[in-house]
Amino acid sequence: MKYKRILLKLSGESLAGSQGQGIDSARLASYAAQIREAVALGVQVGIVIGGGNIFRGVAGAAKGFDRVTGDQMGMLATVINSLALRSALEEAGQPARVLTAIGMFPIGEPYSSRRAIETLEEGRVAIMSCGTGSPYFTTDTGSALRAIEIQADVMLKGTRVDGVYTADPEKDPSATKFDRISYLEVMARGLKVMDLTATALCKENSMPICVFDMDTPGNLLNLLKGEKIGTIVY
Ligand code: UDP
Repeated sequence: MKYKRILLKLSGESLAGSQGQGIDSARLASYAAQIREAVALGVQVGIVIGGGNIFRGVAGAAKGFDRVTGDQMGMLATVINSLALRSALEEAGQPARVLTAIGMFPIGEPYSSRRAIETLEEGRVAIMSCGTGSPYFTTDTGSALRAIEIQADVMLKGTRVDGVYTADPEKDPSATKFDRISYLEVMARGLKVMDLTATALCKENSMPICVFDMDTPGNLLNLLKGEKIGTIVY
């Protein structure tokens, strides 16, 4: 396998499937099956999930909540998604543990990088919830941070599109895809691969990012085997 330890970032929206919100159990089961296959091939899988299918702090602020409260609600949403994924993984026969950056035992165990690495070494999936645990951040930044902390070989960002494009391919049909692109070029072109904080953190710590389409079953495994899938940000 090309990668031995990965940090997989899944957006909350991707869990919503075609319904656009909530949690789609078929989508969840498909992710769980693919993750289980990866672990069966010897890959250690850490996961960070977003919460956008349930709540985003910015949307809360627009509704009159203060930003910190809205972000706390968003972080709780990531815990809901993490519990749903753990359940789907266990259903698929893959043991997993939910770690929370904000103490809320017994819903999840307190996160520490050491605990996450132990979990991975036991052959379990480590689902690291609450993003960074602080308001004003995103789960993209949370996943960059966790990828660095657990010394992952790569941070995989599973999305609906199959890589980084010159423009949003869902809006601009003339957009072309990059096979590889540097962190600096992502920033200079203002590409919305990840937020700037997450991109800068990966850059400062030389954590490569691979943006790929997680909704095509088989992609994750082929990528782990070394096939050229998605876009590498380096
Ligand atoms: N959030 C936060 N700190 C973090 C990560 C997330 O406050 O470190 C909150 C923030 O309000 C965010 C919400 O949790 O809007 C859901 O996360 P995100 O928007 O990153 O989810 P995604 O877009 O990946 O579904």
